[in-house]
Amino acid sequence: MELEKEIGKSRREIEWLPNGRPHYIFGPCSAESPEQLDQTAAQIASKFPHAIFRAGVWKPRTRPNSFEGVGLEGLKWLSEVGKKYGLKTATEVAQPSHVEAALKEGIDFLWIGARTTVSPFSVQALAEALKGTDIPVFVKNPLHPELSLWMGALERLKSAGLKRIGAIHRGFYLADNKNYRNFPHWDLAVQLKARYPEIPLITDISHIAGKRELLPQLAQRAINLDMDGLLIETHHDPENALSDADQQVTPGTLTELIGGLTFKTVSSDNQEFQNKLDILRAQIDKIDEDLIDKLALRMGIAEEIGIYKKQNKVTILQLERWQQILNNVKEQGNYLGLDRTFIEKLYNVIHDESIRIQTDSKKEPSED
Ligand code: PEP
Ligand code: MN
Repeated sequence: MELEKEIGKSRREIEWLPNGRPHYIFGPCSAESPEQLDQTAAQIASKFPHAIFRAGVWKPRTRPNSFEGVGLEGLKWLSEVGKKYGLKTATEVAQPSHVEAALKEGIDFLWIGARTTVSPFSVQALAEALKGTDIPVFVKNPLHPELSLWMGALERLKSAGLKRIGAIHRGFYLADNKNYRNFPHWDLAVQLKARYPEIPLITDISHIAGKRELLPQLAQRAINLDMDGLLIETHHDPENALSDADQQVTPGTLTELIGGLTFKTVSSDNQEFQNKLDILRAQIDKIDEDLIDKLALRMGIAEEIGIYKKQNKVTILQLERWQQILNNVKEQGNYLGLDRTFIEKLYNVIHDESIRIQTDSKKEPSED
């Protein structure tokens, strides 16, 4: 990946974002009126003077005839309150004309929404419109869990010459989102972070949650996973918000929420902590070594079995045997306190590989 090569491996402070980590993006889902933006921004600025103040003015709604944003005039309100309270501002762009208008109005940051990231044509059109500018742009993850689409959008911006690119993790729409509006799939966020350590990754807990109650636990989870910042939709009167009313919080609740978080550091100077950590890590390393040894042994035997099956013209997949294995390991895992779903997922991967090895094996059955 082009981006991977250019961006080094070490994590560092992102100098183009205000304040140190965690970086904050707060503000309403949508700009609704000058008063709404003013009241919300005033309260945010008094507690979080370095937060980026966000508001959507073009709202991508699933169905037509719902509130689709106030459009151009909202940009003016946004830039005015930004100046008044000394806050950097951010808005969503989905079309080249949005980019042009936001730049003209002096908006400081742009973001590309989840519904746009899914479309390479739209992202490319935005990248072209952004060429020659140095405005920072965040890319939200696409609606569905496809990491390469998210990476592709980041790469398109990079290829357009943009230097200040960030990512926003806002969860993914699945058939079963569990208790969330958008399923977090933290694993994909962690994968993106591992691939592009220099790209700041902000967690949009509001669109993951869909409801206020879930916000504190999601915020803590993001901090525990060493994400670079939080996006939290904030409205001076959330109950009466014109969009996303259930998930927005007042600036007061926001302050409590942030105050309740436990911040962690990636490393610690405390020697005792470091020693203990080293010991535990060494144990993990040893166990990983053993796991890989055992897996290699298991796959070797699977290959042997494949040869015997070939010899005896027996199908590779034996459903009954597979179900028996799965029951046995789930039983044992359960006894040892391991989650059944985890064991099932793990064994599905192992079983797939085992079948692949049996299918691909070039070894011919011996004659004896
Ligand atoms: C938003 O941030 O208000 C928004 C529309 O988000 P998303 O693109 O993540 O749905
Ligand atoms: Mn919203």
